[in-house]
Amino acid sequence: MVFVNETCIGCGVCESIAEWIFKVEDGMSHVIKQPENEAENAATKDAIGACPVNAIQEGAPIIEIASSEKMAA
Ligand code: SF4
Repeated sequence: MVFVNETCIGCGVCESIAEWIFKVEDGMSHVIKQPENEAENAATKDAIGACPVNAIQEGAPIIEIASSEKMAA
């Protein structure tokens, strides 16, 4: 899972690289579709590498990790 964290500055670089994955709205990028194939994964990796503030992350958002840990306890 790929997501954009709160450090995003809305520069639009990710959207310009992978417009079908990222969309900038209200000054922040949002993931509009998770990458599902090799081409989309490659474009997402390019966007991750190009983001000037490292706001694009892979994995589960912290809130989901916390809730799954709670369920396991
Ligand atoms: S490249 Fe990074 S900072 Fe720029 S809009 Fe995308 S997530 Fe936000």
